[in-house]
Amino acid sequence: MATDERGMLIPVIDDENAGFWEGTAAGELRVQRCTRCERLRFPPRPMCPWCHSCHRQFVTVSGNGAIWSFVVAHPPLLPAYAALAPYNVVVVTLDEDPALRMVSNLVTRPGGPVNEVDPATIRIGEHVRAVFDPPNGAGIAMLRWMREAPVTGS
Ligand SMILES: [Zn+2]
Repeated sequence: MATDERGMLIPVIDDENAGFWEGTAAGELRVQRCTRCERLRFPPRPMCPWCHSCHRQFVTVSGNGAIWSFVVAHPPLLPAYAALAPYNVVVVTLDEDPALRMVSNLVTRPGGPVNEVDPATIRIGEHVRAVFDPPNGAGIAMLRWMREAPVTGS
């Protein structure tokens, strides 16, 4: 397993998922869209699970979503992760399609440590938005999630 300068795992980038990682490096959340039936899908894969077309493209989505589930990670973990435990791992559904779910970590700022949000404060259904860490030494920008500021009436 490849790790970056902080001991964190580096994702394996291939022809299929490169569009996602090019998006995170550009500060955009991108998912695949079938160019036949136009449904969005994530994670990236060659064939549409609904119409079986292999024609696809990456599109940029809003980056808005809601916490669908979460866990609190505790050791045993890889050493770099164990040093940060306990920390949250959230599953977020995207506003464009609740069937699109992404796993990452809730932080208070891009590049924030994975353990900076008290897991006891996390609520299912909280609105969040995608943020992107500064690229690591391998040039990869990780997706993270931040809470949406509460909407206030005026
Ligand atoms: Zn399709």
